[in-house]
Amino acid sequence: MLGAVLAVAVVAALRLPRGALPDVERGWLRDDDGRLPDVVLLTVDTLRADHVYGVAPADWHLTPALERLAARGTLFEGTRAPATATKPGLAGLMTGSYPHRHTVTSNFGSVPVDVPLLASILQQHGYATAAVIGNRVINERSGLLRGFKDVATSVDKNKVSHDPVAVDLALAWLATAPRRPWLLWLHLMAPHGPYDSSPQAAAAREARDPLPDTELRPSSSNYGLGPIIPRYQILRLPPQAALYRERYRDEVVFVDAQIERFLDELRKRGHGSALVIFTADHGEGLGEADYFFQHGWLVNDPSLRVPMIWSRPGRVAQNHRVAATTSLVDVLPTLLAGLGLDAPPLDGADLSASLLGHTASDREVFGLSAYPNEVSTAVRGAWKLVHTPPPPSPLPDDHWHDDYPTQESWVLHDLGRDPLETRDASAEAPQIFAELRDRLRAWERANGLPSGFRGRPQVDPGTAEGLRALGYLD
Ligand SMILES: [Zn+2]
Repeated sequence: MLGAVLAVAVVAALRLPRGALPDVERGWLRDDDGRLPDVVLLTVDTLRADHVYGVAPADWHLTPALERLAARGTLFEGTRAPATATKPGLAGLMTGSYPHRHTVTSNFGSVPVDVPLLASILQQHGYATAAVIGNRVINERSGLLRGFKDVATSVDKNKVSHDPVAVDLALAWLATAPRRPWLLWLHLMAPHGPYDSSPQAAAAREARDPLPDTELRPSSSNYGLGPIIPRYQILRLPPQAALYRERYRDEVVFVDAQIERFLDELRKRGHGSALVIFTADHGEGLGEADYFFQHGWLVNDPSLRVPMIWSRPGRVAQNHRVAATTSLVDVLPTLLAGLGLDAPPLDGADLSASLLGHTASDREVFGLSAYPNEVSTAVRGAWKLVHTPPPPSPLPDDHWHDDYPTQESWVLHDLGRDPLETRDASAEAPQIFAELRDRLRAWERANGLPSGFRGRPQVDPGTAEGLRALGYLD
């Protein structure tokens, strides 16, 4: 109670003229007596922002649990992943940085051992740490588990992940009464294809599909543009895009129910004061730009934009929405500032002022595809610049051979007027185009892009098997 009163006082004292952001005292997320809070990092694989409360159409009700979490916290409407695949997306979250520090630009990379990670930093400051993971790409070799003392998987012997099991494992770890403070990372998988882990839900059926239905061709490959169903996604359904999209929505409803059970148990077991950070590693193409049920090749918002909610009663502003553009690379700098812990050099921004109820202004965030096409983007508010570099020469003899673009392009999108990113607005806004192109060029240079990375990297058999099961290898 005292915490709530103090937090309200802090927010009131920091109220400044619109547009001005206050300097927030580091450590504002701590308990009144200065102790570090417990932290839950809750991530959902392949969860599009526009299927989640706050960004979804107002008449969609796929995520009631996340709606309640948002009411108890701060919802970010404009968060982008730094890449459109699991490993580079999570590498950005865990390191607070773009690839020049962590080197991971595809699902084949790994974070070097000398790069500080969210868990390794918190562990150094006395946190007991655990991770429950449902994605086999996030393994010891990925480097993403460094700093987690206890690691459990919700993947069964047939390589299928089970989110109810993941929730059970997370609750079982909490039942061991870990030393405080603790950090628990729970990574759920249901929206990742194949979309077959959930029962059909009325909310998914009733949501009006904004995209036209299309007849698709089941493919023998896991890759490709055009009206195909990637092999790993094929279900016993008529090959209609609308039916597959409904199954994706079923998965979103299902994962929300798992989140509800986890958060309810957290409170019932006396952990209601934990900081909860909820987000996703990347989104999913559902047919926009002729990209069906995959992620990684494009950087359009279906694949790049992710939901994000932070909640801690008495500390994080409640029922607050932040429209400004943010990135997953902002998570670590914000967390370390809130905890009052020293941060290594990071690329992300400290969002503390936003979490205390203030309005933030837009800034550029950057993103990258996860294949050798190396498409990059800079997003600032409603403006989004996409750079497609010249095609690799010679063209890689890979499964994307026919899909490489024929020439370099820089395209500016006005997301307000053109949410599907189909038109080039550079002639209407030449100054913004030039500004963002300078910023994106500088970012590419800083990150060694385009890298000239060509061909398929070597992977060990265990990782290859995991990648194949998730549709990342043929
Ligand atoms: Zn993923």
